[in-house]
Amino acid sequence: MNITYKKLSLFRHILTKTETNYDKMKVRKKGDEMKKGKWILLVLLILTGLALVPVIKKQLIPEGLRNSRNEDVSALRFEVNDAKAVVFYPKNIETEFSLNMAQFIKDDLANSVDQVETLKVDFNQYEIGKYLFLSFDAVDEQDHLIKTYRTICNLETHEKVEGNAFFQDSFYEFFSTEVRYQIKESGILGDLAFSREFYEKTTGSNLHEFELFMDEESGLFSLVLCLSDQEVLVEVEIAMEQLASYFKEDEVMYQVNDSVVHPVRHYVDPERPMVALTFDDGPVRQNTLIALELLDLYDAKGTFFMLGFRMERNPDVVLDVINRGHEVGSHTYNHPYLTKSGTNLNYQYSRNQEILSEITSGEAEIRLLRPPYGSVNQTVKSTSPYPLVMWSLDTRDWDTLDAGATHDAIMNNVKDGDIILLHDLHESSVESLRTVVPALIEAGYQLVTVSELMEARGIEMKNGVTYSKARK
Ligand SMILES: [Zn+2]
Repeated sequence: MNITYKKLSLFRHILTKTETNYDKMKVRKKGDEMKKGKWILLVLLILTGLALVPVIKKQLIPEGLRNSRNEDVSALRFEVNDAKAVVFYPKNIETEFSLNMAQFIKDDLANSVDQVETLKVDFNQYEIGKYLFLSFDAVDEQDHLIKTYRTICNLETHEKVEGNAFFQDSFYEFFSTEVRYQIKESGILGDLAFSREFYEKTTGSNLHEFELFMDEESGLFSLVLCLSDQEVLVEVEIAMEQLASYFKEDEVMYQVNDSVVHPVRHYVDPERPMVALTFDDGPVRQNTLIALELLDLYDAKGTFFMLGFRMERNPDVVLDVINRGHEVGSHTYNHPYLTKSGTNLNYQYSRNQEILSEITSGEAEIRLLRPPYGSVNQTVKSTSPYPLVMWSLDTRDWDTLDAGATHDAIMNNVKDGDIILLHDLHESSVESLRTVVPALIEAGYQLVTVSELMEARGIEMKNGVTYSKARK
């Protein structure tokens, strides 16, 4: 079988929905109380033996649980720790692959199941091109989910395919932010999800191992995180339209959304302390890109008050800033005193938005202005089409040009709700992030954009009004 797909072939054309209880699985997931919006997150804490459900006295697999499919289903029946168990698996790949999978599940259940009388392991399958995505749910006699296994079979070779085989390298940065977002939003890890350790375990480079199940709407990822001596099984669902742009060219094909702006999501807990790091006078390619990398490591977001003439020179950096979940504000086109007579205020106010619209095909908007030198007067206040963002913590990084001094200026003075002034124009300022970001995380702060800070604190920003902090 030789399968080739055109880049733009619609996903549904190459999908064969197989006859399974797939719909039933979706219903079960939809009923999950942790689900918010169209996203599903299911996190199961697996402590020693915790994953298991209580004993129910039953000797045999109830008739109702038996799979009604006959010709396309095979079953492996066995006993595991005195429980009667059956694993159903697809007959159409009745090779070593499916038998091995059934054996693996059998062995794994033997290690993790205790005090259960009967076990049923049924499967869902989805065929995409030459790949068969399989997921096995192990349930007890009460239909309580005990464990889920996922695997992928190459239908041409009948070999197991690793989930990460489908994605380009650029996927993992995005995946990292989604994993963090969904875990934080679920609240299931509590404080742990805001800890330094959590961030360090969920960087893109640490998330290459997972089980994957895909259908036409989404990919369901299941991965294990080791946190504070616990093994945490995390399930993250990502919509296919987002996932598709990260597929390798010759693997699964999908119609890719060609919009240029697709920012990652960032979760902010309004109850926790937070500060806004702000960066003026960029973008400066070599510095700004390093700043983005250092911020990404800890799911930290910043606000970049950019100069229009530098945006023109670095359009790709501007786009990167936006797509990595940061905020772009205006610092005027070329840094004049807005308070000086003769300054063309309208041009200084509007030019950066024109540039941004050009870079993003009109998909992104500037919402904040930082006046150069922090200089404002009545005229600026009455004419500014944006809120005026000042600061509450001045690092004087442009003066010291020393990463250590910048670090101390922040860590010795920082308070909840601060807006911190930095300049990505200077290498030393960006270097200070190497220690400042983990130190702020360790001290319990979330690093958020100015708009996120104001929103979390219930402050509605008004044009021409100055804002320098947002205390609780
Ligand atoms: Zn400036």
